[in-house]
Amino acid sequence: MTVKNKMIHQLTVPTPFPVGDVHLYLLEGDMLTIVDAGVKTKEAWEALLVQLKEIGYTPADVEQVILTHHHPDHIGLVDQFPKVKGIYGHTNNDYWLTRDEAFFQRYQTFFEELYERSGVPDSYKKFLQTLRAPLKFAGEGKLSGCLVEGDFLPGHADWSVIETPGHAQSHLSFFRESDGVLLAGDHLLHHISSNPLLEPPIDPSNERPKPLLQYRDAMKKCLQYDITTVYPGHGPYFSDVRNLIDIRLEKQEQRAGKVLSFLKEGGLTAFQVCALLFQKQMDKEFGLTMSETIGQLDYLEDQQKIRKEIEYGVWKYYSM
Ligand SMILES: [Zn+2]
Repeated sequence: MTVKNKMIHQLTVPTPFPVGDVHLYLLEGDMLTIVDAGVKTKEAWEALLVQLKEIGYTPADVEQVILTHHHPDHIGLVDQFPKVKGIYGHTNNDYWLTRDEAFFQRYQTFFEELYERSGVPDSYKKFLQTLRAPLKFAGEGKLSGCLVEGDFLPGHADWSVIETPGHAQSHLSFFRESDGVLLAGDHLLHHISSNPLLEPPIDPSNERPKPLLQYRDAMKKCLQYDITTVYPGHGPYFSDVRNLIDIRLEKQEQRAGKVLSFLKEGGLTAFQVCALLFQKQMDKEFGLTMSETIGQLDYLEDQQKIRKEIEYGVWKYYSM
């Protein structure tokens, strides 16, 4: 797509994750910038080399990397561009890029405590041992600068930053007002709904973030922009943004209605709700399904439709 001779090139590489391929975007401008960095596998790197070559570039031409969020399928090759002068993104990317050990300790403890409170049986807690496994697909580095709401992208003054937390606490989207293009990372995807994922609070003295509430707010925020085309992290480009956001919000409300109907039968723990909501997927995707379940419970609490009480060290949720 050409705007004022400034091209956006979509590059697509495979990932070992269920989500499948991930897109990177090469932005031409005052700097040659790659938005997101795929996953750290040989297959992804080789696919990237071929596609860069097709459009006349090599990895050494890339001058900076800008990240939509910290997940391994978006930061994998961040350290593979030899002449990069800067890496930019939300400040929270740094915990992952620098492998901040104190953060990972907190991350582990956070999930141990959360699962204890959620009534997760010991047999499911083995999932906690795999929390760091995806890091092997993530690149290493350090941010050169942090981006916040309203910033313009370095070297690309026509692109501005919209904070879109929910899927990740580091999630940003980038908007070009002149033609309404949104680089949405995993905030808005056409073919699948994005998972709001639980993460510990960055400041341990704070309450944990409520990713589903953040995700809803961030989607509603996007409605304020005149978005014509979304260039997502996965799947096809799309234009019907308003419609898609309406559908996402409505589907989530329907799922919350289902959770509420379970709780009308009697009090349940988050684990018990998860087992009812995701009978088939829970064993295979325990982290994701628990995040989604706790998200729906956060939403219903926020709507004052349910309340929770601690019973023998475990939160039990009741409809009001
Ligand atoms: Zn992704």
